[in-house]
Amino acid sequence: MQQSVPETIDRLIDREQERFRRTHPRSFEDWRKGQAHFLYGGPSHWMRRWAGGFPVYAAEAKGAHIRDVDGNAYVDFALGDTGGMCGHAPEAVTEAAVRQLRRGTTMMLPTEDSLWVGQELSRRFGLPYWTLTTSATDANRGAIRIARMITGRPKVLVFSGCYHGGVEEAHVEIRDGKVGLRNMIHPNGVNHAAVSKVVEFNDVEALERALSDEDVACVLTEPLMTNFGMIPVADGFHAALREITRRTGTLLIIDETHTISSGPGGYTALHGLEPDMLVAGKAIAGGIPAGIFGTSQEVAERLWKIVPKVDPRVRQSAHLGIGGTLAGNALTVATMRAVLEHVLTPANFETMIANASLLAEDARHVIETHQLPWHVMQTGARAEIMFTPRPPKNGAEVIASRRGDLETLLHAFYMNEGILVTPFHTMFLMCPATSAEDVDRHTQVFSRFVDLVRDAGV
Ligand code: PMP
Repeated sequence: MQQSVPETIDRLIDREQERFRRTHPRSFEDWRKGQAHFLYGGPSHWMRRWAGGFPVYAAEAKGAHIRDVDGNAYVDFALGDTGGMCGHAPEAVTEAAVRQLRRGTTMMLPTEDSLWVGQELSRRFGLPYWTLTTSATDANRGAIRIARMITGRPKVLVFSGCYHGGVEEAHVEIRDGKVGLRNMIHPNGVNHAAVSKVVEFNDVEALERALSDEDVACVLTEPLMTNFGMIPVADGFHAALREITRRTGTLLIIDETHTISSGPGGYTALHGLEPDMLVAGKAIAGGIPAGIFGTSQEVAERLWKIVPKVDPRVRQSAHLGIGGTLAGNALTVATMRAVLEHVLTPANFETMIANASLLAEDARHVIETHQLPWHVMQTGARAEIMFTPRPPKNGAEVIASRRGDLETLLHAFYMNEGILVTPFHTMFLMCPATSAEDVDRHTQVFSRFVDLVRDAGV
């Protein structure tokens, strides 16, 4: 449970929000105007979650830096919650996009860039067949639908605390021992217990029990959890997960949307995982909306038996029930190629991971110097500061220990000090343009935050 906010922290949040309001008058006014025409003030409801009390309105972004409409500058470690992991306006993506915009964006016809992209996805992630979608959410939905089609089973198993986008089956967590709704979101009239199973991450016995009924089409999981703080995977868990899913005829979908920060082929390639399907999105086309899912040879062959490749003379149903008129459009494919060829390259990953290591080491040093009961996690180019002494084992430990108050205070402080992190937890992502100076800027601001809370006796 989230603890009630101690008065001191509450006062500090007030102070930081007042400071934010004073230094962001134009964003404040824009946000006020936005209420008139957007359901939740901004074009996406996610844009309302910022700890300053309202979002900054972006004027422009380049590399790892953003400038807002009030002229404030930020080092951006949020990077659009991973959509901007290539850095803002990377040259290769911009050039590819402009070139393709002039030649037509969406024709529902393949372009030759797709041949290069398909080959590269197989090479990186190790699965032979790919489908492009317009988002990671859609890729997950597509993968789940195929899993249900070929297994004939209704349920999807996820781990408590997961997030896989707007996927109904994955909106669940364990609350009071039962299937509840993640972060207490609205159940939306759906009987989640009928379509979902949820167990704690790293819990092999619970997984074994849940899959033994053989009513689960697929397990959908990140290779380690990144959306509830960062929850590391226990030794042997992946081997057990693969063995149990195979034994029970359950498909394994690995969602690499965030963990692609591990390296060019994500955590899957780095650790030799063998998923039946793999999903990614967000950064994969450099910020142009896109998702991908790959399938194994076996999954593809089982699917082709149900929905054969089309013979145009026979007007058979060849519809997969997966949407996406704009999926795989020429613009997306062109920018995806640019990303894979020039941006998310092994050399750039080396720089990004080195900077994430630097940030994590520096933050650990600050934490240790002040003997604070906090810790720092890292997955490749991604790091996370958590207000607990040790990494959590599962979602239950996060629910029990999460310090929402300190997170809000830290995030509001960061924004006032020119640092952006994703508003949902304290996650830092590096892009190829992130520099050691940017990391150093964070270290200084984080040290000042520690001074602030210690002076206040928190
Ligand atoms: N999978 C994971 C692991 C994610 O973190 C997210 C979004 N945070 C998604 C899927 C969904 O991505 P999108 O909202 O871009 O569809």
